[in-house]
Amino acid sequence: MPARCIVRGSINVDEFFQVKDIVRPGETISSDNLVKRLGGKGANQSVAVARAGGIVELVGAVGQDGVWVRDELNETGVGVGAVSITEVCKRKGLRLASSASLQENTGRAIIQVTDLGENSIILFKGANYASLPPYTVPPDTTHIVLQNEIPLQSTIEYLARGSSSGISAIFNPSPMLAPEQLKTFPWNQVTWLIVNSGEALDLCKALNLKVGAASPSASTVDTAKPLVTLLSISMPTTNVVCTLGADGLLAQFAQFNQSEPLYLPASTLQGTTCDTTGAGDCFTGYMVAGLMRLEKQPTSDDYVAVLKRAVQAAGMCVESRGAAASIPLDADVTARLN
Ligand code: ADP
Repeated sequence: MPARCIVRGSINVDEFFQVKDIVRPGETISSDNLVKRLGGKGANQSVAVARAGGIVELVGAVGQDGVWVRDELNETGVGVGAVSITEVCKRKGLRLASSASLQENTGRAIIQVTDLGENSIILFKGANYASLPPYTVPPDTTHIVLQNEIPLQSTIEYLARGSSSGISAIFNPSPMLAPEQLKTFPWNQVTWLIVNSGEALDLCKALNLKVGAASPSASTVDTAKPLVTLLSISMPTTNVVCTLGADGLLAQFAQFNQSEPLYLPASTLQGTTCDTTGAGDCFTGYMVAGLMRLEKQPTSDDYVAVLKRAVQAAGMCVESRGAAASIPLDADVTARLN
């Protein structure tokens, strides 16, 4: 039976403003270019799973202004039967969370992008915080993918559902949870934790793990290594992956005896970095699709092959503009790996 993945997550309209430099406090700047695209971590990761060849269904919501976003997801191969339109929820008499007027709008990301590919983002929650109609997780679901752009309560509910049905849960806590939320979060239900280096540090601190002072001259990899080790010790049943942007990633697998985290460098780019928006989401979606293809008893080599493919896909994602738009097709990733 083919593997199926459910993504319970956010859907946004990404508004990209091209700027010379990111705006500073008190400053007003001009942008010569505005492009609107499909975005949101849930949507991006769903697109990445679909482009990587996986069967994926997205559970989330858009406002009336986001019907085109749902259509675009559908065209990309993402199952959108569980993407609600908040007005429809309201008409059916279903409860909306507070400030219903905000939730008629699709979630938004206001993104400044510089010529050097740096970015800075403001998120508006919108329909991502609406209450959704009841959803039954299909019985053939093998993986559940979660991020942190929806109400935490919903993330916890889906983790519990996955855990009680033996479904693998992939959690990318981005943006990072508040410290008080982190302490009570059911980490033991997370099969794969994906964080970037900043998130890894925040997580270690919030969990009161003893993080030593990093030497200013230490490399990104050497600074992140102890964080990954600390996280994997405190979450002994969770596989920990820490992405390091242009420096690649570190991974510590729960079921294999690694003396230290595995390091994989980033892929070699064709040209220069164009836009890093969505690189992490591309990585996560490709990693999930890779895990979905594995046999029941994977080896650590299987995991390494999955990560290498995801690293290649994420590298290709930064070579062009956009988040979902720049996620490569599986065949193109294969061609670059060979
Ligand atoms: P996030 O977007 O979640 O912060 P990262 O920036 O760590 O995630 O990027 C995720 C992955 O994307 C990295 O592990 C790496 O493989 C790839 N990547 C990101 N930036 C670059 C880059 N400039 N060059 C090559 N690969 C990159």
